[in-house]
Amino acid sequence: MIIVKSPEEIAIMRQCGRIWAILIHKLKKEITAGSKTQQLDVMVARELEELGAKASFKGYQGFPSYLCVSVNGEVVHGIPGERILKEGDIVSLDLGVSYRGFHADGAITVGIGEISPQAQELMAATEGSLQAGIAAAKCGGHLGDISTAIQSYVESGGFSVIREYTGHGVGRVLHEEPQVPNFSFGSKGILLQKGMTLAIEPMVSAGDWHTKLAPNQWTVLTADGSLSAHFEHSIAITEAGTEILTQL
Ligand code: MG
Repeated sequence: MIIVKSPEEIAIMRQCGRIWAILIHKLKKEITAGSKTQQLDVMVARELEELGAKASFKGYQGFPSYLCVSVNGEVVHGIPGERILKEGDIVSLDLGVSYRGFHADGAITVGIGEISPQAQELMAATEGSLQAGIAAAKCGGHLGDISTAIQSYVESGGFSVIREYTGHGVGRVLHEEPQVPNFSFGSKGILLQKGMTLAIEPMVSAGDWHTKLAPNQWTVLTADGSLSAHFEHSIAITEAGTEILTQL
C-alpha cells in the first residue's frame, strides 16, 4: 500500500532531510585519505545525538552501523570498520535519518583526492541519473518515467544500473511501497500523486550490473569487481512540484 503524506507530515520529513544534509556536509569535510571508515560512523552517531535524531539503519534487520560506507567495488551496505581510505578511492556514504517519527534517506559518492577519469565519469553519470529521475518524478506522471529516465541517462554514459536493489517509498517506515527500480520495467507503473514521498537511488556500475554478497552477508559488491557509485535523495511530490527533502 502506498502511503500518501499530508503537508504537515512532509514538513517533518523536510526536517529529517535537513538533518541528513547537515551530516553529509560534515562527512564531506571529514573524509580524507587516512580516514578510518569507523571514525565516520562515530561522527554520525555523535552528531545525530546532538541533533536529537536517530540513525534509520542502526539495528535495521540487524545492521550494525549508523552509516553505510561502501568503497570502490562495494555497491551498498558497506559496514564501517578498520579500513583506511586512500587517495583515488571512491566512497559511497548512505545515511538514513529518523526524526519525529519519520525517515529521510539519501546517499552520495565522494572521491578521495585525485580519482581516475573513469571514477569521475561514473560519479557524474550516477548523480546525473538521479537528477534525471527526480526531474521525471511529476504529479500525474508514472513511476516508470523515473526508472526509464535513470536507466537511459546511465546507459548513455556507457555504464550499467544495478538491478537487484531499488529505490523505495519512505516515510514513517524506512522502506515503504512502491519499489522504485532504476531500470525500465516494461509498464508505466503506478500514477504519481501529490503526497507521495520516494527515495530515488541509482546504484551504478562501471562494468556489468550483476552483484554478489560479501562474506559479512551485508555488503553488496559488483560481481566483476568494477567500480560502483550511489546517489540518493528523498523527494516529495507536491502540487507545487517535486521537492528534494534531503537538502538544506
Ligand atoms: Mg534508500
